[in-house]
Order: sequence, then structure tokens, then C-alpha cells
Amino acid sequence: MKYALVTGGSRGIGAAICKELARNGYPVLINYVSREDAAIEVKREIEKEGGIAEILKFNVAEPKEIDSALDSWGATHPDDYIAVLVNNAGIRRDGLMMWMEDSDWYDVINIHLHGFFHATRKLITPMAKKKWGRVISVASLSGIKGMQGQTNYSAAKGGVIAATKALALEVAKRNVTVNAVAPGFVETDMTKELDQNTLRETIPAGRFGTAEEVADLVAFLASEKAAYITGQVIEINGGLNT
Ligand code: NAP
Repeated sequence: MKYALVTGGSRGIGAAICKELARNGYPVLINYVSREDAAIEVKREIEKEGGIAEILKFNVAEPKEIDSALDSWGATHPDDYIAVLVNNAGIRRDGLMMWMEDSDWYDVINIHLHGFFHATRKLITPMAKKKWGRVISVASLSGIKGMQGQTNYSAAKGGVIAATKALALEVAKRNVTVNAVAPGFVETDMTKELDQNTLRETIPAGRFGTAEEVADLVAFLASEKAAYITGQVIEINGGLNT
């Protein structure tokens, strides 16, 4: 079977992606790092709708954890492979660069950019061998235009976008597509302390996006219909960057 792995699938955008991919027929691997309860709830909701889901714990910033979790999964699934990888796990550690702690820089780069590298490098070979695969990374408007207070996050997301474009060229002939989506403001735990009333005035659509709207876009990129889209960054931001 062709499985889909969603890093950070326990909450927010990742949870919505897990559910939508399951509705589209993929057995889903829900990755989380700390909130097992949330991952179990996503699994329960998928199964309630008749889908298949498993939980896979690892920290995307720890290559050994990724290798060990995916090797164990592979050993118990000799006839399956992970055909869809959604690099979604993420954190914010905002602050002006002049006062930024080393850990705020490195943690954000490690989770977003190095997480992309380690998970994708591990799974791109089986996708290329099977001649079918989808790598979709959840980047951000911040990685396209740069946002004040987010030099770490903009650098990480900008790096993911550049790597996406380069990797797409390496595997296009193998029917593996590599794309990114770049959301603006989406209502999740990550944005819950932001002042929506003020920020929504800056958004042409007049509101934050929903996790489900991002999930629909990711599910399309994961589908057969998106076979000729590769190396792209698709913005989903209510017109914010228009
Ligand atoms: P969220 O609600 O805070 O959820 C974050 C998810 O990432 C959780 O499932 C969390 O797992 C997981 N995670 C965090 N660190 C991890 C690690 N080291 N290893 C594995 N999983 C980890 O965030 P969100 O808003 O859904 O964001 C999802 C993605 O969209 C992120 O890449 C974010 O940068 C991007 N994004 C968000 C927005 C927005 O406005 N919300 C806009 C643009 C881009 P636990 O539950 O186990 O903690």
C-alpha cells in the first residue's frame, strides 16, 4: 500500500492534512513529538470515518529518531512504502534578531530545514525506486517575503522553498513531485496568541485561513491529478501577498 506520512500530524494544519489524505484513500502515519493525546484523537477521528491511520513518534530535528522510527515501521510493513511525505512539523520562536538567543535560531532551523532534509532524504529513494512519490512541505509566506521578528523562521522556510525547487529537478523523471505550500495566517495553536482583530485588516480576504483549506490544497498536490506540478510554491493567504 502507498502510505502518507505527515510530520506534526497531531495538531493544527498537520491534523487536517492527515484527515483529508485519509478521506482520499491514503493510509496515514500521524507523526508527533510531545502530544500523544492529540495524535491518538486524530487517529480515532480517521478510523471513525473508515480510514486507516497509525501513530509514529519522532522528533524531526533528531535524525537518529527519524531513522529508527521509519526503519521499525518498514520492518513491519515489508509490502508497503511511504509514497507521500508532508513536511509540516513546525514551531515559532519569534523575536528581533538583535536579541535572538542561539537556541531560538538553531531550534527553528533544525526543526524546519534539517527536519525537511532528514525525513525527505530517507524517503525519496523508495519513492524514486517505485517511480511514484509526492513530497509536499508546508512553508510560509514568511519564507517568501520575510517578516520582522522572524529571521530564524523566514530563513528556515526560505531554505525549504529553495531545497524544494532543487530537489524537484533531481527526481522529476521518476514521477516524484516536490512542492511547497506557503500559507499566510492560519487559525491554529501556533497563531492563537496573535491579535486576529488587528491582523485580519491587513488580509484582503478579511480573515485568517483554516487548517482545512490548507489541507485541501495539500491533498490535491498529493493526488494523481497534480502529476505535472513540481518545483512550485503555492501561496494560500487570502490575497495577503498579492
Ligand atoms: P501547531 O498547531 O502549533 O502544530 C505544530 C505541529 O508540529 C504539532 O503537531 C507538533 O507536535 C508538531 N511538531 C512541533 N515540533 C516538532 C518536532 N520537533 N518533531 C515532530 N513534530 C513536531 O502549528 P500549525 O499552525 O499547524 O503549523 C503547521 C505548519 O504550518 C508549520 O510548519 C508552520 O510553520 C506552518 N505554517 C503555519 C501557519 C499558521 O498561521 N498557523 C502559517 C504558515 C505556515 P506535538 O503535537 O506533538 O507538539
